[in-house]
Amino acid sequence: MCGSDAKEHIIMGRRLNSSQGRKPKSKIGITTTVMKCKGCGLVYANPMPIPTDIQAHYGVSPEGYWNQQYFEPGDSDFHEEIGKLKNMMEIKPGYKSLDIGAGIGKIMKTLEEAGFDSYGLEPSMPFYSEALKTPGIKPNNIKCSTIEDAEYPSEHFNFISFSAVLEHLYDPSAAIEKALGWLKPNGIIFIEVPSAKWLIGRLINMYYRLAGTDYVTNISPMHIPFHLYEFELESFQKNLKNKCEISGYEYFACPTHLPFKALDSVLTSYMEKTKTGMQLMLWLRKSSHLNN
Ligand SMILES: [Zn+2]
Repeated sequence: MCGSDAKEHIIMGRRLNSSQGRKPKSKIGITTTVMKCKGCGLVYANPMPIPTDIQAHYGVSPEGYWNQQYFEPGDSDFHEEIGKLKNMMEIKPGYKSLDIGAGIGKIMKTLEEAGFDSYGLEPSMPFYSEALKTPGIKPNNIKCSTIEDAEYPSEHFNFISFSAVLEHLYDPSAAIEKALGWLKPNGIIFIEVPSAKWLIGRLINMYYRLAGTDYVTNISPMHIPFHLYEFELESFQKNLKNKCEISGYEYFACPTHLPFKALDSVLTSYMEKTKTGMQLMLWLRKSSHLNN
């Protein structure tokens, strides 16, 4: 994201190709090294495991990839984000939106209901097939394609969303640059990614360290959900320098998933106060006077 050389980065530890649990040393599997960029805080796998075909990672049933909660109406429906977007942009008739990594089409549906002519890109064949069944989605508006292979006219969309997507892409910087090219001047990009400063991740790493191992819980480059990166605000500030403006950002704590329920509310409010929540959300605006 900042372009610095991996030789200057820090080795955090190693990550198994499965859930690690409390005793990762007792698990059979392969590991890759997890590193952190000293320049921008980006966390990544080195070497980066790449499947021969994208469907090897995402060609699974939606039920096998997401938990049951995802299929019920709720937080993942993008209603809160639409509320914030409306403070930044008036959605006029004919305005086009693009959801990159559309999944089963939940965000596309909400954007269509909010007044956009809603488009989407989804590389997984099973997720794409499911999205076609989602009410309110125009079949011609969704493509089964990776962002790397996709083509749209330049300055075509008023709003583009990367909701839990950039952490799955091998080159997130190139993906942002491509999306900026498709965005109209004054258009807005929404980004949601896992934060490299997540408190719970740091506590789990501390536990592994005290247990005498060099495992870390960051990312999941070889198993579901296949997260290849974690980001810091600085990763975007350095990446977007001279490209576009960050209009706003916030952290979202998310439930802790720890086996101690009583601690959940204490930790959640601590994460909110210290900006160490699980998810980082950013709003970018493409300036009308910059060429991308
Ligand atoms: Zn960096």
